[in-house]
Amino acid sequence: MRKAFIAGNWKMYKSIPEAVSLVQVIRAGVHTVQDVDIVVCPPFTALAAVNEALKDSNIDLGAQDMYSETEGAFTGEISPLMLKDVGCRYVILGHSERRQYFGETDGLVNKKLKTAIKFNLIPIVCIGETLAERDAGKAKEVVANQFEGSFQGLTAEEFERLIIAYEPVWAIGTGRTATPQQAQEMHGLIRSFLKDRLGDTVERVRILYGGSVKPENISELMAEPDVDGALVGGASIKGESFIQIVRGSLLEAKGSGKVSSS
Ligand code: PEP
Repeated sequence: MRKAFIAGNWKMYKSIPEAVSLVQVIRAGVHTVQDVDIVVCPPFTALAAVNEALKDSNIDLGAQDMYSETEGAFTGEISPLMLKDVGCRYVILGHSERRQYFGETDGLVNKKLKTAIKFNLIPIVCIGETLAERDAGKAKEVVANQFEGSFQGLTAEEFERLIIAYEPVWAIGTGRTATPQQAQEMHGLIRSFLKDRLGDTVERVRILYGGSVKPENISELMAEPDVDGALVGGASIKGESFIQIVRGSLLEAKGSGKVSSS
């Protein structure tokens, strides 16, 4: 049984006061929700203030990236220890915007995620194909290669301490969501790769969908057997829409029996 998981990637938006007011709205809107793991990932500058505003809530804090070393002369970078220090439990790694604009490779993502796990941060690792790759009929091949490269050398135990996000690049910030069938096809493929590595414990690993998730499409996506939650960008920086996405994931997840009855 996999508990539903909804994470908001705020990207490079929100001043500190704006971040605090957004999280206060979200907190008030989801405080009765028990069966969904809820995470917000503000920009680095707002992490401390948002952490304070989340005290004693049912929402966890995540960062949008980190470096693969713990400390040293790496100007501009943030270490896993610093993220722990500021209250983070999660960290997004290998987001397509990092891969596309900052040249992040599967090799670097692999190093980062191993360091994150070592320091008890839970990585949310993103993989997904571009439109050109999908149009060329290469979506599965690309995702298979990213899976191999990003998760190289991971033990079964390490796999159980991370979350995977399938994010087709053509659906990120474009308003064009993958259909539930397209999402399920790729999530099923990713789960089959996991099964090869993990055997039956594969059922414990959560695979999120990301790409223009909105209140209107969360339920149909969550109805798919291998969609365990969502990584939400644009709709996560509007309080009411994020609240509705959290609630929408819960309703459908309950119906499909993905959530434990705790
Ligand atoms: C994202 O940034 O991970 C994302 C999925 O963005 P959006 O929801 O805006 O497509």
